[in-house]
Amino acid sequence: MAIAHIHIGTNQGDLIANLKLAIGKLGSKGTILDQSHVYETEAWGKQDQPNFYNMALAFETKLDPYGLLALVNEIENQLGRVRSEKWGERIIDLDIITYDDKVICDEKLTIPHKHMADRNFVLVPMIELAGEWLHPTLNKTIDELYVECHDRCEVILIDTTI
Ligand code: AMP
Repeated sequence: MAIAHIHIGTNQGDLIANLKLAIGKLGSKGTILDQSHVYETEAWGKQDQPNFYNMALAFETKLDPYGLLALVNEIENQLGRVRSEKWGERIIDLDIITYDDKVICDEKLTIPHKHMADRNFVLVPMIELAGEWLHPTLNKTIDELYVECHDRCEVILIDTTI
């Protein structure tokens, strides 16, 4: 068994329903050990679109990293994800942020996620779940990465339970 952290983002349709559906589908294929609060964030990279809701999960899985990637891609497709422009609107986006302490960098998969250290909307929910987790190549904890992060996008806690 491995423990992965998965980040979920959505900015189309019923955002809470999208998050719940994604969590339900993941939960049927492994164990959700923990989940962060939901955060609202401005869209990163391309601002003329609705704000995102983001959250992170700790997920226990029997799948290897590529099997987990196939699962998150399948869930994105089941929820109606249409891949259009980079950084564009999306009904659901599931990213693997960590997989134990594994380091993978190939054409299909980068673990830890290659943008995790640059983005508050990834770091803030991750702090709740794994602030002391040590990034295996940057050699810093998530808490330290957040302190050093230059991203100025606001990440606002949403008062809701999922
Ligand atoms: P996105 O548009 O963010 O959903 O990117 C999806 C593609 O990024 C996938 O088809 C993966 O091959 C690739 N990818 C690379 N690393 C990761 C990762 N850690 N988590 C999810 N997708 C990844």
